[in-house]
Amino acid sequence: MKLIVLGSGTCVPSLKRNAPGYYLEGGGKRLIVDCGSGTLLQLLKAGKSYKDIDALFITHTHPDHVSGLVPFIHALAATPGYERTRDISIIGPDGIKQFYERCVSSVIRKPRSFSINLSEIDEKMDIGNLNVFAVKTVHSDNSIAFRFEEEGKSVVMTGDCDFDEELIKFSLGADLLVIDCSYPDKLKVPGHLDSTECGLIAERAGVKKILLSHIYPSPYPDHIRLTECRAVFGGDVLLAEDLMEFAI
Ligand SMILES: [Zn+2]
Ligand SMILES: [Zn+2]
Repeated sequence: MKLIVLGSGTCVPSLKRNAPGYYLEGGGKRLIVDCGSGTLLQLLKAGKSYKDIDALFITHTHPDHVSGLVPFIHALAATPGYERTRDISIIGPDGIKQFYERCVSSVIRKPRSFSINLSEIDEKMDIGNLNVFAVKTVHSDNSIAFRFEEEGKSVVMTGDCDFDEELIKFSLGADLLVIDCSYPDKLKVPGHLDSTECGLIAERAGVKKILLSHIYPSPYPDHIRLTECRAVFGGDVLLAEDLMEFAI
């Protein structure tokens, strides 16, 4: 699998960190995981085309994770001289269909040449040769994390989350854990993880590498998050930057 960070930030506007979004290639498919504002442009910066995307996976419907959906679908439907004939899938938690009807369909016209297949993921589904698993996270009513597996390799993407045992079980042995590290320890707020909690989850789950993402601006320097996480986790710790690439 190949992963590109499109947005390592949050709802807070930043010139350094775009709103949440990731590009994931695997199992013969090209996916977007979360689609915050600016995802379409970040994809272009990453040298990838929105026309090639097969499916969008959404962790939850907070605006920083979904507000790029309208421009994304609109671009697929309305780019001059381009007629998409392949359907596209949008996969998310309970309520994603209702969210789409209310917040996306209501403002853009229905594409004429392709369909949008919406599905609410239960615990597991396959897309191409990729196995996808989901688990509820402690954050909002419908927030979930995803685990993508191909040929024995795995990446877990938590979306927004707080500390819980289910997430540790879900992340067991992952090659890469992309995790909500909203704050350094001193600024912890409920519903998000701080850097030590990220490290504890990674350590107990025995993951190989952790990528701290969903970075809120903070008065503390970036390296504080790394230091706090490394104090409790012995594996590789990286702080996400936009357009970082990983081979998994
Ligand atoms: Zn968020
Ligand atoms: Zn959220």
